[in-house]
Amino acid sequence: MNEQRVAVVTGASAGIGAETARRLASEGFRVILGARRLERIEEIAATTGGVALPLDVRDARSVQSFCEGIESCDVLVNNAGRASGLQEVAELEDERTVAMWETNVLGLLRVTRPLIPKLIASGRGHIVNVGSTAGIEAYPGGAGYTMTKHAVRVLTRTLRLELLGKPVRVTEVAPGLVKTEFSLVRFDGDEEAAERPYRGMTPLTAEDVADCIAWAVTRPPHVNIDEIIVRPLAQASSTLIARDQDD
Ligand code: NAP
Repeated sequence: MNEQRVAVVTGASAGIGAETARRLASEGFRVILGARRLERIEEIAATTGGVALPLDVRDARSVQSFCEGIESCDVLVNNAGRASGLQEVAELEDERTVAMWETNVLGLLRVTRPLIPKLIASGRGHIVNVGSTAGIEAYPGGAGYTMTKHAVRVLTRTLRLELLGKPVRVTEVAPGLVKTEFSLVRFDGDEEAAERPYRGMTPLTAEDVADCIAWAVTRPPHVNIDEIIVRPLAQASSTLIARDQDD
């Protein structure tokens, strides 16, 4: 009865997801990595002894075949996510709003639903949802994204209520500014705009967040870490950031 425990990580091709996959592998998990950029997750799978499976969380059929490829699941890290633009509500485009909702909320729901029975069957399941400080705060231009992360937060809390009495822990890890490809994706590949949020301050790294996730996952099984809010020292809120004078 010494089978290797399985951790499923969505959005494992970059940033927080990639580092979480590496870290959980080093903690002894067999990691199943999902993302759209298959070559990237195949590379990480090859170096971690994991498995790479194509996954587009916006596509119900892709999620279905991803989940069908998973025999057992002890830990599910719902990390796949994105922001799109920084538009005030008066200008907020449907296309961007739908992209964020489908990825961050519907995608998370679609992956979690079929894996719940497997998490329960594991006898020691754990769902970690990567939320954001955008799930507990508002900022101008952020509504498209903050709405989705508020939804992730309430979905996480609902899961904890519904899974009470079952062997499944539920955790939200909510980071502030993390330096990944996130900003580049948000600003449609505009490198200058993508650099702006990190100017004159030291953001978190993907490893910092992976460390929080790994810590929550490796607590004794009777301990549930409800949430971890983690920010750079220089960030007090989404809009209040201490930046170096000359930047
Ligand atoms: P990132 O470097 O851009 O990574 C995003 C990951 O999500 C990629 O692996 C991407 O993979 C995946 N993804 C995006 N759309 C997907 C889809 N339709 N299907 C499957 N996978 C998809 O950004 P990150 O910072 O690591 O973001 C990870 C999570 O942290 C997100 O939920 C984000 O909202 C959250 N977060 C980030 C920050 C920050 O400041 N960076 C702060 C708080 C929370 P493919 O493109 O290969 O599919």
